[in-house]
Amino acid sequence: MLVRQLTVAGQGTRGAGPPPHLADLEPGERRAAVEQLGQHGYRGDQLSRHYFGRLTDDPADMTDVPAASRGPLVEALLPCLLTAERDISCDMGQTRKTLWRAVDGAYVESVLMRYPGRVTMCVSSQAGCGMACPFCATGQAGLTRNLSAAEIVAQVVAGARALARGEVPGGPGRVSNVVFMGMGEPLANYSRVLAAVRRITHQVPDGLGISRRAVTVSTAGLVPAIGRLAAEGLPVRLAVSLHAPDDALRDRLVPVNKRWNVAQVLAAAWAYAAATGRRVSIEYALIRDVNDQAWRAEALADLLSAHLAHVNLIPLNPTPGSRWTASEPGAMREFERRLALRGIAVTVRDTRGTEIDGACGQLAAAGRAGGAAGRPR
Ligand code: SAH
Repeated sequence: MLVRQLTVAGQGTRGAGPPPHLADLEPGERRAAVEQLGQHGYRGDQLSRHYFGRLTDDPADMTDVPAASRGPLVEALLPCLLTAERDISCDMGQTRKTLWRAVDGAYVESVLMRYPGRVTMCVSSQAGCGMACPFCATGQAGLTRNLSAAEIVAQVVAGARALARGEVPGGPGRVSNVVFMGMGEPLANYSRVLAAVRRITHQVPDGLGISRRAVTVSTAGLVPAIGRLAAEGLPVRLAVSLHAPDDALRDRLVPVNKRWNVAQVLAAAWAYAAATGRRVSIEYALIRDVNDQAWRAEALADLLSAHLAHVNLIPLNPTPGSRWTASEPGAMREFERRLALRGIAVTVRDTRGTEIDGACGQLAAAGRAGGAAGRPR
């Protein structure tokens, strides 16, 4: 039923793209946009305070704006970009995945994960993904389009709003962390992702006021873009999806490796660590009998020792139709032990949301939507 609805909803609307939104604009541009509508520039600040501070885009809440101006201002600068098509929860409501439909019928997903003392929003940066990693559900559907900065920010705002209103079990709360580990390759949508990071991290009323150090940008390894990010002077965390220490295997697991290989990706990662002073996360999905051999743990340790790195081992989440599965617990422990013995910081990532397909790499709205948002392969 869902598949049918999604397919129909997507028909005939592709290609239009998202309308512009306040969250696409720098603060100065917001004032100019408001003046173009014949309103006082400071109304831009008021709208920003409502959206980023009070987390509302409902004209009824904007009692400091003349009633007659609210409608036109909201229509022009705070249009609804994403509609929740479906919400699924697990972990007693503390993990929640949302399937969003954009105005042009593209689908994306975000995941909210509440832990003791922190809440992480995992957001999508693109509808679909062009990286084609064979173990990743999103990668199977291909790229539909880049999300706008405001569409990315809207995912965080939605989570922040649900927390502020006490809709997530555990009492009212705030989003503390944002990870670009949903659908898409963030560095392939560079300028919009950067604008979204600014909105997410600037103080209210310019943005959501989340710490820059609590934002993680994860990449399959787009080397020039890693260099560009290093030069931004933003202390966001970089995560590199390595998954193999050798080019022969990484060429298969992360096809963009044929363009920028392991040595080039890691050189860019170390330059990033040097520029920002921040430890780089090395993501490594453990796939049974594919990349989990003891010798590969040693080869990985050879590459990482003496560098500012932290390894996140992720038991593979098997995706439909894939012949690959997670490593045996014993193999995982041995892989972790060998890295630790070599002095490498390593943790096994918890895989929140597995049962709602909300775990790493399982976000595949495009595939499930029967091609509404993705190019079938
Ligand atoms: N394009 C970005 C973001 C992708 S999603 C990137 O490649 O980093 C975030 C992480 O989940 C990446 O490390 C990705 O390789 C990993 N991932 C994808 N599919 C997975 C799966 N089925 N099991 C475990 N991790 C997966």
